[in-house]
Amino acid sequence: MMLRHIILATVLWVGLPAAFSWGWGDEVHKLINGHATDLTHPPLGDFLRQHRDRIVELSTDADDRKESDPDEDSRHYIDFEYYGGAPHSSIPYHRGEAEVLYNYDNMAQWGTLPWRIIDVTWALRDAMADADWEQVIILAADLGHYVADAHQPLHTTTNYDGQLTGNEGIHSMFEMHMVDKYRDHYRHPTPPLPVIESLPDSVFAWLFESYCDVESILAADSRAREGLSSQKKEVVAQGFQADAEDIPQDYLERLYLQAGMTSWYHTSKATVRLAALWLWAWDQAGQPSLP
Ligand SMILES: [Zn+2]
Repeated sequence: MMLRHIILATVLWVGLPAAFSWGWGDEVHKLINGHATDLTHPPLGDFLRQHRDRIVELSTDADDRKESDPDEDSRHYIDFEYYGGAPHSSIPYHRGEAEVLYNYDNMAQWGTLPWRIIDVTWALRDAMADADWEQVIILAADLGHYVADAHQPLHTTTNYDGQLTGNEGIHSMFEMHMVDKYRDHYRHPTPPLPVIESLPDSVFAWLFESYCDVESILAADSRAREGLSSQKKEVVAQGFQADAEDIPQDYLERLYLQAGMTSWYHTSKATVRLAALWLWAWDQAGQPSLP
């Protein structure tokens, strides 16, 4: 989407830390990849746990690639409104069919996250079948990144930073500043892992579920801003450009009261579903012996 690129170009121009990205903060990606590694059943889980540090470390590589690969950005989101809204049963699960219907260039603007998750899962399956275990580690970490992004509801909408509804800045407040403040509240998700019967059905259902929470996050933000001084509102609206120490704590407290459970729910679901996806890929690869 052009607007996203313009905003991105603007904020990059004024100078931001390298960690800046429209996506969960680095800590959330690391948390989800690490916890999913802990939850994966043996023997695959034993292998992944041997490489837990790398799987955690590589969890943010996909964001870093945006700087060098112009095609990377659109793999991290889907603007469902352009595809006809969500849930929308006529969105083709198959990327080729989707490209025929929507046009490749449009999709490059509207976002391709669900198809990216499906593609990386199949690539992971292939790497497992080929016993390319180095590649398995890289792809498992990458898959974790995209699955986590799919569980950030603001990655599923054109109104990704609340810019269409007077909620400018909510993207970073919800996914980074609120989570950073309440990091200790994010408990380790517990089994059982979900059963994946159909890869595309599952992936699209997860994204539709995320989309259903967009409105509640925006409403939580609106309520959290009520009564703030105009100076504090201005800081919140700066979003990623705001200095962490300037962000009004009373705003974050109120946001967490209303949207904390939503954040916790989606990060927990991302974790157990990621572990289930890794196991699904291994199963589809014919359950090869681990090194
Ligand atoms: Zn991302």
